[in-house]
Amino acid sequence: MASSPRDSSPPWLQSAERRAPVAAGEERLLSLLDHGDPQPAEVERLRPAFPWRLQIQTTSFCQAACVTCPWPETRSTQEQGRMEEGMFRTLLDQCRGREIRRVGLYLQNEPLLDPRLPAWTALAREALPEAVLHLYTNGWLLTPDSAAALEEAGLDEIHVSLLAADPVLVERYAPGTPLPAILHTLDLLAAERRSEQGGRLRLRIAVLDLPGAVASLAPWAERWKDAGFALDLAPVGNRAGAVGRPRPGRRLPVPCHLPFTKACILWNGQVLLCASDWRRQGVVGDLRHQSLEEIWNGAVLQRYRGRLLAGHPEPGAPCFRCDHPLRRWQALYGGSGLAV
Ligand code: SF4
Repeated sequence: MASSPRDSSPPWLQSAERRAPVAAGEERLLSLLDHGDPQPAEVERLRPAFPWRLQIQTTSFCQAACVTCPWPETRSTQEQGRMEEGMFRTLLDQCRGREIRRVGLYLQNEPLLDPRLPAWTALAREALPEAVLHLYTNGWLLTPDSAAALEEAGLDEIHVSLLAADPVLVERYAPGTPLPAILHTLDLLAAERRSEQGGRLRLRIAVLDLPGAVASLAPWAERWKDAGFALDLAPVGNRAGAVGRPRPGRRLPVPCHLPFTKACILWNGQVLLCASDWRRQGVVGDLRHQSLEEIWNGAVLQRYRGRLLAGHPEPGAPCFRCDHPLRRWQALYGGSGLAV
């Protein structure tokens, strides 16, 4: 089994598909899903009664238009808005005392567009003192001051998504990106960390495996490596078939583990099957009418899980055209996963 995303990868390049499980229970569950012929009863015995991981969309907006993202389409085809504070607080109250290990304060959005984020991070930190709080940002609004405010509020980790560090490539992949400003900010944050002023907030660079992307970022990664910035490399996914090529409609090579471990909550309280479901074809519940626990253990989500375990998602379900299980297979075993 490969331990790095590429042969002879530099130490600063890591595979985003092979992150460590957040709990011993998750390790057992993933092992069963990834390497076995998972029996539904055994999976059900190991599945948490409440999600180990959350992603929360406090605002649904983004100012970018990346070629890898469904947002340029879904910005006008899906209802957009901001979460009400009452809903956020109710959600946190439902999560208190549960075994939640990791909370992403982002979902299909640019989280730094929400000016409430530092205050809401502090609310999440108070409610979930043990959880790792993190977010992904495109970096357009990231500054040393905004990073410091989030760190002070209790954020643990920021992932800055950079599609490339070459101006021509960036214009091709993410038109309008203020690349010089983002690189300058990262330089300042790296300098803070070298001088140990950066505190405990971890910074990572998220990069997709687009042509030329890693090569363009390599000099920067070398420059930042003594500041602890690693590059997490992920294959380009098709986001449940919303961008790129649809998955050929064959049996899944491995069940997608995401709906067994993580809950994804939209700004309006709808709970999605997973973060890839940009077209909201897999809404599994609504916090305006149900608790998160009811949704997590409810019949709708259980039906999706059952189809994933059987290897045959329903036509019309987000999983039917999604390539995530193929990418999981590739990360685990190499090859395409198509022959399974
Ligand atoms: S297979 Fe794709 S759409 Fe289905 S749960 Fe996994 S990531 Fe989501």
